[in-house]
Amino acid sequence: VRELDETNFMATSALAELPSKILLDHLHSPAFLLDAEWQIHYANPAAQQVFGLSPDPRPPLALEQLLDHPDQDLKHVKGLESDRGRYAWIRNERHYQPQVSSYALSDDSVGYLLLLMDVTHFKKQTENMTTFLQTVSHDLRSPLTAAKGFVDMMSMVGDLNERQQAMREKILISIVDMTNLVEKVLDAGRLDSEMGTYLLRRETCDPSAIAEKVVSNLTGAAQKKAISLSLEVSPAVPPMNIDEMMLERALMNLVENAIKYSPDGGVVEVRLYVENNRLYFSIADNGLGIPADKQATIFEKGIRIRRAEHRTIRGSGLGLFIVKSVAQQHEGDVFLKSVEGQGSEFLLMIPIAGLNVVGAGS
Ligand code: ADP
Repeated sequence: VRELDETNFMATSALAELPSKILLDHLHSPAFLLDAEWQIHYANPAAQQVFGLSPDPRPPLALEQLLDHPDQDLKHVKGLESDRGRYAWIRNERHYQPQVSSYALSDDSVGYLLLLMDVTHFKKQTENMTTFLQTVSHDLRSPLTAAKGFVDMMSMVGDLNERQQAMREKILISIVDMTNLVEKVLDAGRLDSEMGTYLLRRETCDPSAIAEKVVSNLTGAAQKKAISLSLEVSPAVPPMNIDEMMLERALMNLVENAIKYSPDGGVVEVRLYVENNRLYFSIADNGLGIPADKQATIFEKGIRIRRAEHRTIRGSGLGLFIVKSVAQQHEGDVFLKSVEGQGSEFLLMIPIAGLNVVGAGS
């Protein structure tokens, strides 16, 4: 055993002494060594092949010259050191996820390693999964509509006794739940910034009318939990050129969540106001709140909080992804202020600028 250990130790120490360039030479992923000015001093064989470069570009080539996609400007690359970056670089129909790390050179200057991980395979898998989900969800719509139609008609073909009534109600609730889930999956697929094909249907509409409709639709759900649900609209809210249906869905998700994740007897306040030429929908609750370490990822697809209190509440983890996508498609964003155990405030912001302004065209 001792002998084996020693051999292993020798192998590791010899490995540790391998010049790092040799390792990069054998990597299947494109890799670059860059200087502090982001100039390429070394491109490994995979990078040479993908970008058609010579092994040792002289004089050093500015990385900028390889960047020919809107997502690939130098500012984006520099930002990758702290943020992995969601967007893959596309070359010859392959998708690469860039990663940057800095290292200190012997003369105390900084250099960068830029690694492009080939994620084509994962991308394809995600696409297949999304397409599959879209197809299944779409095909579930008709049977669900039929089921709801027949349940609605049951009382017309004869009297139902009390137990049958109660069962009918439960079937109806399940059908509505399923329909909502199907619609959410379809919305999330349509709005996906990488795969979706949804184009906003802009029209002149009054944002306060959207809020009134959503609040009125959810008054019943709030009453069931004895939650006080209120709406306050500032007189400064102007008509806007926005996608009414999508904005209604986004707001619906936020108010539904505020009700879902608040205890009985809670308070949910919806406010619309204008600040610095931006329209804000604020949805505040005094419910479960969201832990600080989860707040950054909560808007991603499929993310739910893994806490017992949240687990007892049904959901798909798609609602906030839809909200963020709708905001971004309107050049806006969504912000969250939350303290676990005390409550949350979601701010859906739409700039009163560009195409969002009435009269700016569609
Ligand atoms: P869903 O509610 O369908 O799970 P969402 O994307 O709408 O999906 O929300 C993601 C997660 O964020 C939820 O599962 C929940 O844990 C948390 N969350 C959302 N809104 C609130 C809220 N108002 N208060 C507390 N937690 C929330």
